[in-house]
Amino acid sequence: MTIIRQEDLVASVAAALQYISYYHPVDYITSLAKAYEREQSPAARDAIAQILINSRMCAEGHRPICQDTGIVNVFLKVGMDARFVGADGGAAPDLQAMVDEGVRRAYLDPDNKLRASIQADPAGKRTNTKDNTPAMVNVELVKGATVEVTVAAKGGGSEAKAKFIMLDPGDSVVDWVLKTVPTMGAGWCPPGMLGIGIGGTAEKAMLMAKQSLMDPIDIQELKARGAKTRAEELRLEIYDKVNRLGIGAQGLGGLTTVLDVKVRDYPTHAANLPVAMIPNCAATRHAQFVLDGSGPVYLDPPSLDSWPKLKYDVSAARRVNLDTVTREEAATWKPGEVLLLTGKLLTGRDAAHKRLTEMLDRHEKLPVDFGGRFIYYVGPVDPVRDEVVGPAGPTTATRMDKYTRQMLAETGLLGMVGKSERGPAAIEAIKEFGAVYLIAIGGAAYLVSKAIHGASVVAFADLGMEAIYEFDVRDMPVTVAVDSKGVSVHQTGPAEWQKRIAGIPILQ
Ligand code: SF4
Repeated sequence: MTIIRQEDLVASVAAALQYISYYHPVDYITSLAKAYEREQSPAARDAIAQILINSRMCAEGHRPICQDTGIVNVFLKVGMDARFVGADGGAAPDLQAMVDEGVRRAYLDPDNKLRASIQADPAGKRTNTKDNTPAMVNVELVKGATVEVTVAAKGGGSEAKAKFIMLDPGDSVVDWVLKTVPTMGAGWCPPGMLGIGIGGTAEKAMLMAKQSLMDPIDIQELKARGAKTRAEELRLEIYDKVNRLGIGAQGLGGLTTVLDVKVRDYPTHAANLPVAMIPNCAATRHAQFVLDGSGPVYLDPPSLDSWPKLKYDVSAARRVNLDTVTREEAATWKPGEVLLLTGKLLTGRDAAHKRLTEMLDRHEKLPVDFGGRFIYYVGPVDPVRDEVVGPAGPTTATRMDKYTRQMLAETGLLGMVGKSERGPAAIEAIKEFGAVYLIAIGGAAYLVSKAIHGASVVAFADLGMEAIYEFDVRDMPVTVAVDSKGVSVHQTGPAEWQKRIAGIPILQ
């Protein structure tokens, strides 16, 4: 019988969550660096460069890879000959309580405070729990006397694209995946991974899909040795065919959409073929450790030599002064073009938009004048030490589509900055009002925050990270995603690269 002290689990979970907030898994970095080398689409190459540079900065600065520091998933394999004891040697609290204590400790760590994103009463008041608890805890009882723990922090943008279907037994899993991935847009911040669970029951398929994302990236090794099972055959086929869709990094069109595809399967009912698919994003964050009774586990930091030393080349970027920019000037920007923004940038996301449009409906004066201004869809991490703001990457703009027409028509807003594609109604409104939509790179939040030199709350302070700030930005890199004529790079980019990729014989 092995005795595992409560503090061993709590301290190890807390340490692992801090670790994964700033260290990408090395296999992800190595694989992304290879994708960068072979990428031929300039916009996608620029996006991958930003993700890689951001990752190295986070590893050096111990600050989060992404402003969305995730919902915590913990998978425990508890040996049946292991026993937990509490702080005083007595009964331990339940596993959920111990894991949540680790989450609380990690997310409130003053040296690297992480963003609390969890909302209680999800279909009601949606109140922030303030410490990112509770974690999603999964427990398996297994043979042995140790406790194996896998910790992950899953971004909301990629979790939002989770899919499930109950196919008929004769249906093709590959066809469903190829039909479904383009509908996921770019809000899951590719390049990442796809986790696919096939078989079992509905909940078993979802669990397998999520757990498969914890496995290391090894598709190249699989390609080299060849598939031995049906699941491995599917991995290779889906990997090749999804990349041939040409979606590319951040949906800008390019050679690499997924760095790996994982497939787990399990026996199922004769009448069913359950299939679940969950993507992992550019902020892939997970780690594993084993408790054996000898104390808490603190993972070794990876060598910084694992990260490529890239210099972000902005020589071809167009410089834009946000304080003087006009609609006529913005009308000259081309989809896919990289801009460097300098000047005053307003922020606001879901809750602020809801309030603003409610005020507009009541014909009330808004607390901020949006005329001729740009708004950045962001919910930053709190600053630490001498930072003016913590990591501050973009949130998914598609969620703001329902407010866009009213904001453009009634406030004179000139442009928006977010991530992922816009829907048809938002694009139509952008075109009608001669506005523009720009994207910052999802998964490059710390890099973006370095372009922010001032930040003050100008409205709705009670909304916390969702308040309206005014940022003072200097050379903030963004890409034109929808121009003033309504041309969207998320449509033109993948269409172009799907054609081009057809002529490239071997995808690595
Ligand atoms: S990389 Fe994108 S999807 Fe992932 S956590 Fe960050 S913003 Fe969310």
